[in-house]
Amino acid sequence: MEAEATPTRRIRVLPPEVADKIAAGEVVERPASVVKELVENSLDAGSSLVEVELEDAGIGLIAVIDDGEGMSREDAPVAFGRHATSKVRTVDDLFRITTLGFRGEALASIAAVSTTTLITRRAGDLSGTRVVVRSGAIVEVCEAGAPAGTRIEIVDLLGNTPARRKFLKSAATEVGHVSELITRTALSFPHVTFRLRHGSRTLIDYAGVSDPVDRLAQVFTRERASAMLPFHGRSAAGSIRGWLSDSHVSFPSNRHIYTYVNGRFVRDKLVSHALVAGYSTLLMHGRYPGAAVFIEVPAEDVDVNVHPAKSEVRFRRGGAVHDLITQAVKERLRAQGAPREAAAPQVPTAADALLRQMALVDPAARRPVGPLRLVAADGRAWAGSGAAPMLPQRPSRAAGIEAWQRGEPHPGVPPSHGHGSAAEAAVGWGNAAPALAPMPAAQPAAAEATQPAAGFFARLRVIGQAFEGYLVCQNGDTLFLIDQHAAHERVTFERLRTAYAAGGVARQRLLMPVVVDVGARSAPLLAEKVAELENLGFELEPFGGSSIAVRAVPALLADSDPATLIRDLADDFSEVDRSRQLSAAAEAVLARLACHSAVRVGQTLGTEQIRALLTSMDHIDFAHNCPHGRPAYITLPRSDLERLFKRT
Ligand code: ADP
Ligand code: MG
Repeated sequence: MEAEATPTRRIRVLPPEVADKIAAGEVVERPASVVKELVENSLDAGSSLVEVELEDAGIGLIAVIDDGEGMSREDAPVAFGRHATSKVRTVDDLFRITTLGFRGEALASIAAVSTTTLITRRAGDLSGTRVVVRSGAIVEVCEAGAPAGTRIEIVDLLGNTPARRKFLKSAATEVGHVSELITRTALSFPHVTFRLRHGSRTLIDYAGVSDPVDRLAQVFTRERASAMLPFHGRSAAGSIRGWLSDSHVSFPSNRHIYTYVNGRFVRDKLVSHALVAGYSTLLMHGRYPGAAVFIEVPAEDVDVNVHPAKSEVRFRRGGAVHDLITQAVKERLRAQGAPREAAAPQVPTAADALLRQMALVDPAARRPVGPLRLVAADGRAWAGSGAAPMLPQRPSRAAGIEAWQRGEPHPGVPPSHGHGSAAEAAVGWGNAAPALAPMPAAQPAAAEATQPAAGFFARLRVIGQAFEGYLVCQNGDTLFLIDQHAAHERVTFERLRTAYAAGGVARQRLLMPVVVDVGARSAPLLAEKVAELENLGFELEPFGGSSIAVRAVPALLADSDPATLIRDLADDFSEVDRSRQLSAAAEAVLARLACHSAVRVGQTLGTEQIRALLTSMDHIDFAHNCPHGRPAYITLPRSDLERLFKRT
């Protein structure tokens, strides 16, 4: 419509302040999106150190400090202009983006809705430059002493757009987003040191490393990282490399999947679908792997500009990229030697925790054994070992299996126990094979002999594990069927209870606090009991709203998901009368936690894990019941068995 055709013009070009604020809305969604832009600028500037400081979850202050190339006196103020960038000069460049930032909009947008102070110096310059921008207007440019690199401070973020500020979630949520952002960025820049501080607390401190596996360990824990499978693949569509959790490890959400396209973190449906598809039936429905996956495709084949703040991409050859990912994952998992069919969801961490708790293995050692091999009645091993794949098989164990498969009694089974080899036992029981996993590699008798005064359970002769849930053991003329979950639960419960009675449960600090939304009802209940909960081994910090930051968990439960632990705790508290002292409820709470962390039925246990469990059963005042009142084991005397077979 022509402007002149109506008496009042209704269409106007927005004044620049308004336009700026709209544009800012795209970049400045929340503190984490500001941090993202600033950190990306630091990385584009070739920094090897990136530090982020927050006050008040970023609303008070966001500071990003780097040791990158810095800016000259001329460039520093120009950086705040809209479409000011040193990274794109021509339209063609747009399709060959190799840096993280390229729109030339970030600084302008951020400065439009805050007070921004930039202090920067190039290594070769004698002095640095300080630029202050308030609500988009440059108010100061002057000389300033500064270390080489750049420091940008944002205060009063969104102070001039109160409507948007209202939308910010709780502080905990905002800090969580920042810390997640830094973690995912850190995975793709292992050589860079990243630090995140919130107030006086250091939330992230990843020293730069030369081996990406070390960064993986910083993020996923050393233990998980060392069990991840490195993989790579290539096709006409591009190339892929990274690390996958083996199929025995799975998570209830895709939170532990980090995917990158050309170095840029993406959260893309196609990519994650392809990844999960690579696991096919190895994962139960609704379970996800952990992974760090780096995909490289020709820059012109991917549009990273779908949304400035979001991490979506658009592939020109989506189908081919999907195939590339799925194939590479499939192949790697096939090499893992995993069983074809989905095993019950196995969470080896609980079993690992068990091993550590019992201190039968050096805590520095990796997972010493994976799940036992299941052996069919004809003696063929049919399920691969899920042992930590990057570690060599223990020779003794492999040799033992072979000997066993040849029908020889295993050297680990002391001959004095006499009732035939494990093989015979398996075959004897094994009409419905593979129900029973024999024990090919029990600790050699000599090793056992060196352990002082083995107790009753430790001395049981282990025949195997049945139905991935029951330990079958023998003592003289009695068979013991032990419910592995109930037994471990009882052990954990007793340990927690003893520690609690003795004045406090040992705590394990988390590498990074985990912020858990426990619901508006439970959060204040937990908040009231923070001090008392320290005796239970928890270090919590209420964040207001419905969130609680978990800083430490009971050491015995260190391998459980802290979020689940806290939710369990919160559940207990919403049931417990709030006027009551925690001590009155402590037993119930500990029982619940113990149950949560115990090894599950459906989890294959390795020899050493079984041994550890049995040994630990000797160290507690073992009443027959797990805290929920179910029996932990039952016995079957030989005479009963013979009666069943009508031998007597
Ligand atoms: P873009 O990153 O898309 O180019 P920005 O608005 O984020 O746009 O930054 C504008 C310019 O300011 C960049 O192109 C770069 O030249 C300069 N710049 C921003 N941050 C830094 C930094 N930390 N170190 C050096 N130069 C920087
Ligand atoms: Mg940028």
